[in-house]
Amino acid sequence: MIIHADMDAFFASVEIREQPALRGRPVVVGGRAESRGVVAAASYVARQYGIRSAMPTATALKRCPELVVLPGRMALYSEVSRQIQDIFARYTPLIEPLSLDEAFLDVTASTVLFGPASQIARDIKQAVMKELKLVISMGVASNKFVAKIASDVQKPDGFVVVEAAGIQAFLDPLPVSRLWGVGKVTEKKLRARQIHSIADLRHAPESFIRQHFGQYGEQLRQLARGYDPRAVITERDAKSISRETTFAQDINDVEILSGVLSSLTEQVAWRMRRQNVQGRTVQLKLRFDNFHTITRVHSLSAATHHTRDLWRTVRQLLNKEITSGLPPIRLIGMGVGGFDTGEPHEQLGLFDTPHTDDANPDAAHSKAESIDKITDDINHRFGNKLLLRARGLRRPRPASTR
Ligand SMILES: [Mg+2]
Repeated sequence: MIIHADMDAFFASVEIREQPALRGRPVVVGGRAESRGVVAAASYVARQYGIRSAMPTATALKRCPELVVLPGRMALYSEVSRQIQDIFARYTPLIEPLSLDEAFLDVTASTVLFGPASQIARDIKQAVMKELKLVISMGVASNKFVAKIASDVQKPDGFVVVEAAGIQAFLDPLPVSRLWGVGKVTEKKLRARQIHSIADLRHAPESFIRQHFGQYGEQLRQLARGYDPRAVITERDAKSISRETTFAQDINDVEILSGVLSSLTEQVAWRMRRQNVQGRTVQLKLRFDNFHTITRVHSLSAATHHTRDLWRTVRQLLNKEITSGLPPIRLIGMGVGGFDTGEPHEQLGLFDTPHTDDANPDAAHSKAESIDKITDDINHRFGNKLLLRARGLRRPRPASTR
């Protein structure tokens, strides 16, 4: 059984938790109207004014002049994200994070210990509320596709369990736009042929679907029947781990870009250590204001999961791009692949590093290991007081991070 867990209005909810005076007020996290910023997350009170993610902040303020617009605090949201995943991890190691606030959990093997999937979902929801004072919506079903829809249909504070026998009845009345991959264009195409609901699509002749949608049509038909064979892929099984941030406005300030990249590197490295994987391929991804996207890759001689090594490499990749002249950036991301699997990596004690010196590679390596371990340890134990390297603290308001 699969659970899809998804925080409600995540960034905005964290801000309201931190500043209780904001409760009941329309709140968004996003860029400032004066600098053509957009909304990254809107509280449910703000949504009552028709305010949505990715809407220009200026438009949002027109709809609701008393709107509270807050800049994003990615370090805080990342830390809360870690705490949420710690709660997930009590119930299953099979976690596939989709973004900071959303994940699939395969709890099939966990039911022996913790009871049925619906009970696990209920327990997680209660733990998130009790320990983090935040609301998470849960969808439970036999596959990812149905679980994801289930977590969404009753938001906010949703809790929907779809039994295998009830999948078709659950899907049938939903609009075709609920199907993955059905965007505005496909939806229009389907609607023009009187296919509005998932049931309509299910009843359409196979030949008709194949004729109009080719291979993709078969996929659509399968989804409409609630068939989705995809497994939950943990980061340990994944071929790479990456994080990226889309800016609310295009950025060409090198300092800001470095700060964001540093924070993304920190998150990726932390995930690698948590999954006990090391990688040798470091990738930088940049998307420009014209949506042109480039990736730059550097292969290290040895696999690593140290923040410092990964940061040095990805910063070099960025510097190379900067010196060749950089148009404004819409999205920046970093990832690590080429995982070394097999032998477990050495575990170093916290205080058994003698004298360290960057000129001595072995000692420098030990130092990096110690810093990472201490950071992880403190982050794990003290929750909110996230230790981040100082360069990561300067950052603009991102529109989204995943
Ligand atoms: Mg969410």
